[in-house]
Amino acid sequence: MLVTRDAYGLYLPDADLHLDARRAPGTVFVSHAHGDHCSDAARIVCTPETAALHAARRGAREAVTLPFGEPARFGDATVTLTPAGHALGSAMLVAESARGRVAYTGDYKLRENPFSPPVTIPRVDTLIMECTFGEPRYVFPPAEQLVAELLQFVETTRAAGATPVVLAYALGKGQEALWHLTRAGCDVVLHGAIANLCALHEQLGYTFPGPGTWSRYERGKIGDRVLMTTPQTRKTAMVQKLPAKRTVYLTGWALHPGAWNIYKDCDLVLPFSDHADYTELVRTARESGASKVYTVHGPATFAGRLRELGIDAEHLMEHPNEAEEPEPDEGPPPSKPSNQLGLF
Ligand SMILES: [Zn+2]
Repeated sequence: MLVTRDAYGLYLPDADLHLDARRAPGTVFVSHAHGDHCSDAARIVCTPETAALHAARRGAREAVTLPFGEPARFGDATVTLTPAGHALGSAMLVAESARGRVAYTGDYKLRENPFSPPVTIPRVDTLIMECTFGEPRYVFPPAEQLVAELLQFVETTRAAGATPVVLAYALGKGQEALWHLTRAGCDVVLHGAIANLCALHEQLGYTFPGPGTWSRYERGKIGDRVLMTTPQTRKTAMVQKLPAKRTVYLTGWALHPGAWNIYKDCDLVLPFSDHADYTELVRTARESGASKVYTVHGPATFAGRLRELGIDAEHLMEHPNEAEEPEPDEGPPPSKPSNQLGLF
């Protein structure tokens, strides 16, 4: 077996690495710095960017940093990290040993991300892939269309004399949305959690295009700018006490059948996601050439759909850290589908 599961989660025996394990002895590969993938392990391996983001979120620890495409020896395997397109520093891991090649995607998308080099689907014998949006209903519109809809929302909200409020997770989607907003000339005020991470992006050399600007939120000083904040804060005074506002929530779960109810306090929900959609997931499984695909972090039904397409697939595990994490980016659905079905 090129991959196994133990008490700590996914494990590559040849490389002697755990994958995105919250805690584990030895070394843990951290695919990216979202809270539900961060690790309390004493030693991690990741990209330099993820190491910096991880240290900012979880404190310093021993980090073996591997830039994209630079092979390194771990155990009996050669390990290479490749871009995952999910957030700054996000990586897939490819391990090659005498027994073959295995890749772990972590969270990823094939679509463009201004903070990631282009993503290449790894060619391997065994593929371990996330499948958050592994149902056919999750096919996202083109990015250009979603950006155009976001900009139109900002324009019409301002024309109505209200503050546009953009709800996006602090790492990844926040920076990606900000990149598009500033490029279009919008001045944006950021909640502190997003601002801290944007400042860190800039320290790492990843800047936001003009002519728009960004600044940290100060009470009563939004003016005619856009407010971007995290979804969790939309019930706080910062948002609720705005004299006039319209909110847009950026999430792939916009295509969930219960979205109209889950996000009914928002004026607009756009399927602007940092994950692969169903089409990308199927394409990844196919083009990897893998003779065995293991699915993780998503619906168990996706492996069955791959089998129907002639791919030998098996569901390995649900999102391992879901229960412990208050802000798991888009890991699990916003609420259990079973709770939503009765609403229709
Ligand atoms: Zn993530």
